[in-house]
Amino acid sequence: MQKGKVYLVGAGPSDIGLLTLKGKALLERADVVIYDALVGQEILHLIPDSAEQLDVGKRAGNHPVPQQQINQLLLQKAQQGKLVVRLKGGDPFLFGRGGEELELLAAHNIPFEVVPGVTSAVAVPAYAGIPVTHRDFCSSVHIITGHTKQASDADIDYSALVKLDGTLIFLMGVAALEEICSGLLRAGMDAQMPAAVLERGTTAVQRRVTAPLCSLPKQAAKAGICAPAIIVVGRVCALADRFAWAEKRPLGGWRVLVTRPKARASRFVELLHQQGAEVFELPTIRTLPIVPNPILEQELGQLKDYQWLVFTSPAGVELFFTYLRKTRRDVRCLGEIKLAAIGPATAQALEEHGIFAALVPERYNAAALGELLALRAQKERVLLLRARDGSPDLPIALKKGGICYTDVAIYDTIYEAVDIARAAALLDTNRVDAVAFTSASTVHGFVQALGKRDYSQIRAACIGETTAQAARAYGMKTQVAKQATIPDLVELLVQMKAKEG
Ligand code: SAH
Repeated sequence: MQKGKVYLVGAGPSDIGLLTLKGKALLERADVVIYDALVGQEILHLIPDSAEQLDVGKRAGNHPVPQQQINQLLLQKAQQGKLVVRLKGGDPFLFGRGGEELELLAAHNIPFEVVPGVTSAVAVPAYAGIPVTHRDFCSSVHIITGHTKQASDADIDYSALVKLDGTLIFLMGVAALEEICSGLLRAGMDAQMPAAVLERGTTAVQRRVTAPLCSLPKQAAKAGICAPAIIVVGRVCALADRFAWAEKRPLGGWRVLVTRPKARASRFVELLHQQGAEVFELPTIRTLPIVPNPILEQELGQLKDYQWLVFTSPAGVELFFTYLRKTRRDVRCLGEIKLAAIGPATAQALEEHGIFAALVPERYNAAALGELLALRAQKERVLLLRARDGSPDLPIALKKGGICYTDVAIYDTIYEAVDIARAAALLDTNRVDAVAFTSASTVHGFVQALGKRDYSQIRAACIGETTAQAARAYGMKTQVAKQATIPDLVELLVQMKAKEG
């Protein structure tokens, strides 16, 4: 039996970009992932479906799994020979009880490794524009737990802290904010010392309250700051107003729900991240190749009778080339056949297989593609390779143009519904700023998944007019990208946010 091993992995403060390469690689290989409440949603999304996922963190109403039990769980899973990732917010050791979790493993000679994480103590201030040290202001930084019985003077030596004259960073201190501030003041700290409370740092909804030490509790209460949050006390806090950068990113502070199938979404998600958005993936459709496919087989047998192959989606291109490979057909079987693509993404997919599209319409929709083909493919034979429920506009335009064509379905579009509960909860609490749709089928899949509800509050960012029509039909506040491309869809979201002000 393979010997089990435990990896104690720091997930960072929440932003998926702050997860280490090592952490990501381990998540993708894990048999079991045991995680806490503070791990970012996007990071949890990296866990493969095949892995067992155990949430041992606090959830509203429920108590967290007791530490003893977590230690036992790690031991058991490792003893079963599993690759166990114990995923913890920030760094696993820094106020993370990582040390306690290793005790039992060490006692049983279970092999383990530790993957440090980006700690919230440093990253959350950084995302709020607060450098934890600065040569003009301080020469030391101190990280203190505010989670003491009552954060009373008996627990924290405020006089010692004040004497240090460095930046003070309190974790788990929101509940004791009042007590911490008054403790510092009593110990002689300047009442005007710059200070800050930083809530949900590195997420799209991060908030910062900066105030002099003496009025920080009042200001934080007024803003309704809740855990998780970090308290920073020190002259460096005065820099926050000038240095705040995270919210200023084009999509900073925005949460975008992406409905694309996971396999196709990565570039889109990457571009959204670059602009500062937080992304929720809710794949609402899946493409399922039609196998066996006797009609496709038959047409492939008479390929030489065709002058054109037509693709209407990158998924179609991928599935077609996979089919060729699986049936041991060389791409050279395509010979001199010309390829048409509905838009640049589909053309790009063809290029990745070493073939350039001979035709891409100026407007990226089925009708435009059909009209252009009707002009360019006169007296030629056309083979359409597309979804079973593909748009009727394409064959209509071809028929009208007198073009001889065969329409072959190579895949089905299936409405998929994973993570619906999570998406519904996000929508219900207005925590989604926009939903991005890359095809009409993703709109229908989305509505099918979420069922009857008021869609009029949803801001829909649509890749093209056909997609937009579908979104409008459900009453969504709909806007359309300039060109039907992923970069233009991202640009549309940036403009939508700018308009919100
Ligand atoms: N090991 C973690 C800290 C665990 S203690 C680390 O290295 O970051 C939990 C405390 O961390 C919370 O009470 C809060 O004070 C802080 N914290 C963690 N993530 C945070 C975030 N995204 N924003 C603000 N505070 C955070």
